[in-house]
Amino acid sequence: METKKQVSLKQYNTFGIAATTPLFVKVTSSLVLQEVLKDVRFKDSFILGGGSNVLFLKDLSLPVIKIAIPGIKIIEENEDVAIVSAGAGVVWHDLVMWCIANNLGGIENLSLIPGLVGAAPIQNIGAYGVELSDVFHNAIGIGREKGGSRIFYLEDCEFGYRDSIFKNELKDSYIITTLRLSLTKKNHRLNIDYGALSQTLEEMGVHSPTISDIAKAVTRIRSQKLPNPELLGNAGSFFKNPIVSNQKIKTIQNKFPGVPTYPIDGNYSKIAAGWLIEQAGFKGQQHGNVGMHKEQALVLVNYGNASGSELWNHAQRVIAGVKQLFDLTLEPEVNLIN
Ligand SMILES: Cc1cc2nc3c(=O)[nH]c(=O)nc-3n(C[C@H](O)[C@H](O)[C@H](O)COP(=O)(O)OP(=O)(O)OC[C@H]3O[C@@H](n4cnc5c(N)ncnc54)[C@H](O)[C@@H]3O)c2cc1C
Repeated sequence: METKKQVSLKQYNTFGIAATTPLFVKVTSSLVLQEVLKDVRFKDSFILGGGSNVLFLKDLSLPVIKIAIPGIKIIEENEDVAIVSAGAGVVWHDLVMWCIANNLGGIENLSLIPGLVGAAPIQNIGAYGVELSDVFHNAIGIGREKGGSRIFYLEDCEFGYRDSIFKNELKDSYIITTLRLSLTKKNHRLNIDYGALSQTLEEMGVHSPTISDIAKAVTRIRSQKLPNPELLGNAGSFFKNPIVSNQKIKTIQNKFPGVPTYPIDGNYSKIAAGWLIEQAGFKGQQHGNVGMHKEQALVLVNYGNASGSELWNHAQRVIAGVKQLFDLTLEPEVNLIN
């Protein structure tokens, strides 16, 4: 294994923050990963995928293990369903495209989400009405303490909205090396009811969409809507949409009748965090090197060479502004790394 000392992580995170790590290693297989974990220097380390959901608050004191495990294949199938296995280092969107090319349905709505396959179960990635948990079969993780492997099935993962056991009880306990998805080979369950999806398909002149059409529509919407991290540093939605009681929503509606809500069950609903941020006056407002994007209030942006702490200070200003106006506390979706 080849290790490097004092490495800048600027090219390894989509905020483009120039934090450094004292030691860096790329792992290209589970075996190499197990070797690395035996090395005492890597006992406590930070696991890095595509760096699209992290905010480095300062230079890291920890070594970094960069996941680069490749490979996509079908490992099991019947007439209706195929189980696809992908290495944790595969680029998520490449997996989506591979599935579309092989007419396997289930993740087309998750097109163009940045990052790598191994991070997908960590926050149960989701978009346009679909979450990873809808197609999750299992994942293999290597235990960081002892280096043994464990298979996690759906019922083990405690998936929730941008949440899983890997962010809670098993935080920093396992490194995902392989993800397996259960995908349809025919009679795909199309999901086009969310957001602008059906409208975009109509604009594309598509009346009976295929999974490929849906992937194209999602890609089109996302490319128009979200700032490209290669041009403007960001990590997508910085905050989660708060989940609040319907009683609390009524109180907010008395003052703000237009508040956008999405029912979860009879008692709770999600409120669009971007709308809360806009109402609090932060949309498009630049503060030195940082700010909330002018079209996407939920996206925290690095306009120049901002440091992690500058970005986090701004996020805290936004949290305070929303708290003051709505008595709601926004929680970051992005992982803050000290
Ligand atoms: C423009 C933009 C749009 C986005 N849109 C969406 C969206 O629509 N929906 C959505 O859900 N997310 C979205 N995201 C967030 C991000 O793409 C996802 O969270 C993605 O899964 C992160 O993958 P990553 O490989 O970059 O993870 P990283 O940022 O590298 O890591 C994220 C966390 O997972 C841990 N981790 C990474 N790999 C592993 C592994 N193999 N094993 C164990 N832990 C690991 C890291 O330690 C870290 O805590 C967006 C981000 C951007 C920049």
